[in-house]
Amino acid sequence: MPQNHLNHLSTIVGAANVLAGQDAEPYATDYRRVYRGKAMAVVRPGSTAEVSAVMAYCYEQGISVVPQGGNTSLLGGSVPDGSGQSLILSLSRLNNVRSVDAVNATMVLEAGVTLHRARGVAEEAGSLFPLRIGSEGSCQIGGNLSTNAGGTAVLRYGNMRDLVLGLEVVLPNGEIWDGLRALRKDNAGYDLKHLFIGTEGTLGIITAAVLKLFPRPRSVCMAFLGVPDPASALSLFGYLRARLGNDVTAFELISSDAMDLVLAHIGCQASPLPGTHGWYVLVESSSTADQASADDAFCAALSDAGEHGWIADAALASSDRQAADFWLIREEISDAQTQARGSVRCDVSVPLSSIPGFIASTTTAVLNQAPGTRMIVYGHMGDGNVHFNPLRPTQTEAEAYLQVHGEAITRIIDDAATALAGSISAEHGVGVAKRDELLTVRSRTELELAWKVKRALDPRRLLNPGKVLPTLDSAANTAA
Ligand SMILES: Cc1cc2nc3c(=O)[nH]c(=O)nc-3n(C[C@H](O)[C@H](O)[C@H](O)COP(=O)(O)OP(=O)(O)OC[C@H]3O[C@@H](n4cnc5c(N)ncnc54)[C@H](O)[C@@H]3O)c2cc1C
Repeated sequence: MPQNHLNHLSTIVGAANVLAGQDAEPYATDYRRVYRGKAMAVVRPGSTAEVSAVMAYCYEQGISVVPQGGNTSLLGGSVPDGSGQSLILSLSRLNNVRSVDAVNATMVLEAGVTLHRARGVAEEAGSLFPLRIGSEGSCQIGGNLSTNAGGTAVLRYGNMRDLVLGLEVVLPNGEIWDGLRALRKDNAGYDLKHLFIGTEGTLGIITAAVLKLFPRPRSVCMAFLGVPDPASALSLFGYLRARLGNDVTAFELISSDAMDLVLAHIGCQASPLPGTHGWYVLVESSSTADQASADDAFCAALSDAGEHGWIADAALASSDRQAADFWLIREEISDAQTQARGSVRCDVSVPLSSIPGFIASTTTAVLNQAPGTRMIVYGHMGDGNVHFNPLRPTQTEAEAYLQVHGEAITRIIDDAATALAGSISAEHGVGVAKRDELLTVRSRTELELAWKVKRALDPRRLLNPGKVLPTLDSAANTAA
């Protein structure tokens, strides 16, 4: 980056917070080391005013900007391309807790607060902030909002979009929009915050948010179940919802290949169940009832469900420690795959009722394409969300597997989800990896509309270039 730019940015954020050369490199590679780019520099503002001044300068100078939170996104959205022409704007230093309001059940956090800390702040206030994802130690509230993160408690509490009341955003030209309203009802005009949620940093920089707090459950019950097949899991899910209602907080499906992989990855962790099963389910129920009554209701529901043959074996968590161990198995699957190398990652959603058929037919098609593939299939079944991540056979090199089969397998899975009126991206977003696929699953009208929004908010197209929006073969995406 030319020295004059570095000097000017240093006057805004301080020289220690402008990183160039080798110091910038770690920021240009994503968490899984799949997407490697090159940054002009990394700038780390410590306040909204500094973000605004950096953005105003970049707008004036025509410098493109890639916003970055915890850099845990899985589809390449948080790192620049290899041109070295973009600046990374790291939000990590913008990490103050501005306020916690127990009466109105809200908290105002800056974008760089990690999800782990956000959950801790809520807990200290005697409340719950329910977003729960495996990357919570690193991912940040700004990144969670920009990706509309989902995770394991969506069933009960919704996605990140459902957990926010107001936003503060710095626009591409540096202007600050103060939309930090904390109202549950507010129909006074367009609800503009939704433009910035789930749009992966292509329209503005989220600097702070008003988040909802929820009552902390007094009781939590958890079970790790062996089930014969996904159809049994589906019946079980319907039954438990009917019996326990909204108390069913998580319902996660895990294939036996995923279970084998994660147990080997964790090492010392033994399976909660003595035998092996075709499929596993992790189910959590939480409520404001006392623990003893909640345990009774949960056990009775599982026991009655067992009569139908939907459960082959069950282990109940008898302590917080055991519950944490159950969750560890589920949460480490993603890292286990990263370490094993050579998995094709697809994050699809289909109508809940279609899940068993989708898994069966897609598994057959993938095994026809690449015999010996390990079927790492898991996910938030209660939300209709399946992480369908075929993994190379043990004897095949990762690169060779991905080169020969990667694209074909992605097509099989995404086409099958699309044919069932599902989505090619349930919760991980688009980034660069899924961008061009949007040309096949979204109408021309929808993509042109998206480009119109982009041009209106970011006329110079400086914010997170090359992400989310595919290039259309007309003037639709040219600068206004
Ligand atoms: C082990 C593991 C488990 C995961 N589990 C889940 C899961 O269950 N559910 C789920 O939904 N995701 C999951 N993810 C994906 C990822 O953690 C989420 O997408 C997360 O919300 C990203 O947050 P981040 O702070 O790391 O954002 P980043 O990766 O830094 O950025 C994500 C996108 O948001 C933009 N961005 C970041 N901050 C801002 C900001 N302040 N303003 C504007 N744009 C911004 C970036 O440019 C980028 O496009 C998982 C990832 C890992 C590694």
